[in-house]
Amino acid sequence: MVSMHRVGLYWFQNDLRTADNPALLQAASQVDKLICIYCLPGNSNSNKTPSRLSPLRLQFLQETLSNLGRSLQACDQRLEVYYQPPLEVIAQLITQHNVSHIYASVSADYYFNRLWDILRQRYAMIDFAQPGSSCLFNPSQLPFELQDLPDSFSKFRRQMEPIDINRPVEAPKSLPPRPATATDTDWQQQFPDFIAQQKPMFHGGEKQGNQHLQNYFAKGLASTYKQTRNGLHGMDYSTKFSPWLASGSLSPRTIMQALKQYEAHVEANDSTYWIYFELLWREYFQWYAQKYGSRLFAFGGIKQRNPSTSFYPERYQKWCQGNTPYPIVNACMKQLNSTGYISNRGRQLVASCFVHELNLDWRYGATYLEQQLIDYDVASNWGNWQYLAGVGADPRGHRRFDLSKQTEIYDPDNRFIERWGGDDCSTVLDSNDAADWPITEASGN
Ligand code: FAD
Repeated sequence: MVSMHRVGLYWFQNDLRTADNPALLQAASQVDKLICIYCLPGNSNSNKTPSRLSPLRLQFLQETLSNLGRSLQACDQRLEVYYQPPLEVIAQLITQHNVSHIYASVSADYYFNRLWDILRQRYAMIDFAQPGSSCLFNPSQLPFELQDLPDSFSKFRRQMEPIDINRPVEAPKSLPPRPATATDTDWQQQFPDFIAQQKPMFHGGEKQGNQHLQNYFAKGLASTYKQTRNGLHGMDYSTKFSPWLASGSLSPRTIMQALKQYEAHVEANDSTYWIYFELLWREYFQWYAQKYGSRLFAFGGIKQRNPSTSFYPERYQKWCQGNTPYPIVNACMKQLNSTGYISNRGRQLVASCFVHELNLDWRYGATYLEQQLIDYDVASNWGNWQYLAGVGADPRGHRRFDLSKQTEIYDPDNRFIERWGGDDCSTVLDSNDAADWPITEASGN
């Protein structure tokens, strides 16, 4: 018998929150029954551990999903977490429940967008809606067609600054119930614990993200952000909003609302403006990723000009382990491996070293950071790597950081390098010569 109910499916992706989630709000008002799903990235059917994520990334994700699951439970809903590829999962649910509406947020993720397009083509009778996004602006607010996105950040910023940012929307007060089936199980039983060995710097979840946001502004740190933002170590030199922004458990509009309140009630200065300025960088890369699609991952980048770099397995290994002849880079890589986070300055240094000193193909560096960073975001990671590799949106086309000078400026007393054992490293870059002959001590090299 054909069901007369409107059955919705909400596909959570990098929008793992209930507040400021217009797509969830729309689903709440349009359908009688609702299924909420999340498909783990990099999944494989045989092994219930997403292969490409570090234990710290997994733990943060698990905390985020648990938190979202609890928020949905409070609305008599639940989050179903799947290991299978999304197309398989969604096809099954459509058939089983006669789904009539599918919802998601606008995404910068090329692979998500491809799957979304496939679904739309396959299921023409279903209503697809993407009313919200994890950006400051909605697509309809852009003062240009996406294909005409300015080719540099400065031009983009000048066009966006006069545009008002909408206020965040409330979380839905209630949600339609899930359609019942005979095979219902509790999702938490299906999702094993991924407990990282290291003590995490951040805990995932919408609640934790909001708590962090409030603490950041309550401590008054926003008033000095511009002077401190290039720090390398500690919690307070930069906002640390990125882990929650990347998972979507905190929306940029919610951050902007808190920033505006701070400016109205505490202080508005260059530093508070600069937080907005950096959020606009994030915004630029989100639209950039949507415009360029798979070219975000191409060796020649958006410039379609291949760099003269190559791949040297030993150099790559040494960079990943923090064992290069560059102590500041080693310290950053060791910090990344232990915490899943590095400062913006640190990321610029490790990426510049990867491309310009080690002469390595930038895509391998971007992939390693994708695996390790708790705040991994497809648009910000690949967009920044393109920029530093000279194949992206940088009008100068070449950014090589002088690593000794950078060390003098940002770690003058060697404290950061000592903290992470950056000096404890190999002094040779290659133990084979160019013709692949091993170099021994006796050979004098
Ligand atoms: P803050 O300095 O406090 O900035 C506030 C917010 O502005 C950040 O949370 C972020 O959303 C945004 N922002 C700041 N700088 C940038 C930037 N250069 N590009 C885009 N957005 C920015 N950021 C990610 O969120 N995920 C990534 O995977 C990522 N990979 C990067 C890879 C490289 C090689 C480089 C150079 C940068 C990368 N960044 C990435 C950008 C930036 O380093 C981080 O957003 C920032 O360090 C996060 O810490 P924070 O929240 O304290 O930043």
